[in-house]
Amino acid sequence: MFKLPVCPYCNTVYSYKDVKNNRNKKEIECYHCKNKFKQRKIIGFSVLAAILLVIAVVFNLIILNLTAEFITSIIPLMAVSLVAVLLFMIINPFFTEYKKTNSKDIKKIPKNRF
Ligand SMILES: [Zn+2]
Repeated sequence: MFKLPVCPYCNTVYSYKDVKNNRNKKEIECYHCKNKFKQRKIIGFSVLAAILLVIAVVFNLIILNLTAEFITSIIPLMAVSLVAVLLFMIINPFFTEYKKTNSKDIKKIPKNRF
C-alpha cells in the first residue's frame, strides 16, 4: 500500500523527497531517462484523507467535551488539526502515481492568439 511512484518508462524509483518536490509540477521529466510524464493521485488517497479528516473532527469533539472552557480548548483543537494536516502532507507522496503523458491529453496552444 505504501509505495513511492516509479518512472513509467524506465521504472526508476523516486525518493520521498523527489516526489514532494515534484508535487506542484504538471509534467515531470525523469532524471534518469529524460522522458516526460504526468502525476496523479491514487483514488485511495482521497479515502484516506477523508478518514483522517473524520479522525481529526472526532478528536476535536473529544477535546471540546473534556475541556469546559472554550478558550482553553482552542490550543489542543489547533494542535490536533495541525497534526492532521501534517500527517496528510507526510503521506501524500505515497499516494502519487506517475503516468505516461498521452499526446492527445496535451492541450494545443492556438498560434494566432495575439
Ligand atoms: Zn525514467
